[in-house]
Amino acid sequence: MNSPVEEIKSEKRILLLKYLKKNHSRYETLFSYNEDSIFVLDIEGHVVQSNPTFQQLTGYSHTEVDEKLKLQLLFPIDQINRVFHHFSNAVLGRFPNFDCKIITKIGEIFDLNISFIPISVDDQIVGVWAVGKDITELKRKKEEIRKVEEMQRVLTDNILDVIISTNLQGEIVYVSPSSEYILGYEPNEIINQNVLALVHPDDVKNAYDNRKKVLSSQENGRDSFRIRKKSGEYIWVESLSKPIIAHDTLHVLEIVSVIRDITERKKVEEEAKKREETYRNLVEYSPDAVIIAKDSLILFINETGARLFGAANKREIFNKTLDEMVHPDFHQIAKERELNVMAGHVTEFTEFKLLRLDGSEFVAEVKGIPTIYENQLARHIIIRDITERKKTHELLLNSEKLSVAGQLAAGIAHEVRNPLTAIKGFLQIMETEDNNHKSFFEIIQSEMDRIELILSELLVLAKPHELKFNAVDLITLLENVKTLIDTQAVLNGIQITLNYNIHNLTIHCDQNQLKQVFINLLKNAVEAMPDGGNITIEVKQYGFSMVKIYFKDTGRGMPQEILKRVGEPFFTTKQDGTGLGIMISKQIVENHGGNINIWSDEQGTIIELILPIASERLH
Ligand code: ADP
Ligand code: MG
Repeated sequence: MNSPVEEIKSEKRILLLKYLKKNHSRYETLFSYNEDSIFVLDIEGHVVQSNPTFQQLTGYSHTEVDEKLKLQLLFPIDQINRVFHHFSNAVLGRFPNFDCKIITKIGEIFDLNISFIPISVDDQIVGVWAVGKDITELKRKKEEIRKVEEMQRVLTDNILDVIISTNLQGEIVYVSPSSEYILGYEPNEIINQNVLALVHPDDVKNAYDNRKKVLSSQENGRDSFRIRKKSGEYIWVESLSKPIIAHDTLHVLEIVSVIRDITERKKVEEEAKKREETYRNLVEYSPDAVIIAKDSLILFINETGARLFGAANKREIFNKTLDEMVHPDFHQIAKERELNVMAGHVTEFTEFKLLRLDGSEFVAEVKGIPTIYENQLARHIIIRDITERKKTHELLLNSEKLSVAGQLAAGIAHEVRNPLTAIKGFLQIMETEDNNHKSFFEIIQSEMDRIELILSELLVLAKPHELKFNAVDLITLLENVKTLIDTQAVLNGIQITLNYNIHNLTIHCDQNQLKQVFINLLKNAVEAMPDGGNITIEVKQYGFSMVKIYFKDTGRGMPQEILKRVGEPFFTTKQDGTGLGIMISKQIVENHGGNINIWSDEQGTIIELILPIASERLH
């Protein structure tokens, strides 16, 4: 037994079939000869009738269609939902139209545009006409057009080249539309113009010569120059030129040039060049010598390096091998380290004995770093000259020794002072008892006083680190120092004079330190006059609050280049000088809020010492 729903359905199907039969003659021609696929569906989606176009397209025979073809068999799975949606709309009386794919009996796929048209009999919908237009071809054509368009778009969007064709005179006979985008000129604005008129004045000669070469050699040319845009701005372009040669005469007819904007590239190149230059300068003028070597071959050396090895120019170095620059004692270790670096390791600074071009030896610290130079594995060698440092080190040791000697002297002074006190005591007793040798006793007494003074000065020198600021009378201080130096001075035929026109000049100072300054300056003056001379010490008030003390000698003075360096630690021109005197003096004076100035010529040297005066006066 059929259900009521089934009954309604078959009832409708009967109505549909009746309808089709009744209208058969009316639509026969239209139906059978139609170029579109036409089929009729009952409301359940069964195909009840189809035209030959449909049968051809789908591959189902007339009987196959009538008997069992259902809507869902006609469409690929992914389309079925959509189709049924439209179909049910048609069953509800709507007229849907849509594109979809249809699948043939043998599995081919075609694109169709389908219209569903409801069929109503007695006000009820009993079936649906389906008219399918094959749009496969249309789609293909559309696709093709889209591809062509896409390709054109790709081409036009990416055309960074201007193609210019010029005749023998250089007149532009063709220019590609891209010129508008790249140069700002529409093609007709520059056609017939001479191409060289667009080239930057500084580049014209070059561009002209290159054209001539292409014309005469009949070979392609490559060139870069600046070209003027319509806006007046110049851009760098690269131009590839090809001569077009006539078949018959074999003469050049035209030159076709492909011109590309390389402004950006130029900029990048220039920046890279600048960076490299900076880097090169860094290396070139680095305080360390730098050598780049491959095996024993020197590929690069910087200025410092050339100087270090005593070369007048770098070429002299390039004629040498690295082995020739290393002391034979160090060849073995150099070889080992070379292998190490070539294996990719950085070696630490190590002391090496190296040889200058003239064969003399020097000591340096050497470090090796693996690097790439001109595309090959090489060694970046840093050489640090340590001659100076060694010397400084020795001097430091020396001054260390000196200070030890100073302390020793101070110790001795201390020891000598005790017996001296005893001797002085006995001498006084003897003096009272012996009236015959009064003058002798006086001499002994004054010599003893002198010894005592010198000893006490030595003791002062022994304690340079105890800083004690006191109000001190400057003139007394200077007199004391003068006394101390006088003996040595007289031995050298030197006269020391102290000139001053003010008394009671008090300064706040560490007496011992200031004494050391005066001794240093006086000793230098004495040492500058091996054949004798005069030293004048002058004291003058300077403004309200300062005093100037001049130490003038009549010694040999110093030339400008030495004067410039005086005061550098360890700078000395003396065989056993320490080169510390002036430096220490400067430091002390500056610590006292003062200053030192030096003048010098062949007539002698003047040292000016400026110091602040204490506000209260000593009485
Ligand atoms: P040093 O006396 O140990 O050499 P200094 O620092 O005291 O060290 O002096 C440095 C150098 O300055 C001396 O070697 C000398 O060349 C120069 N110099 C200093 N004072 C004088 C001077 N009065 N006359 C000439 N040269 C001087
Ligand atoms: Mg000195």
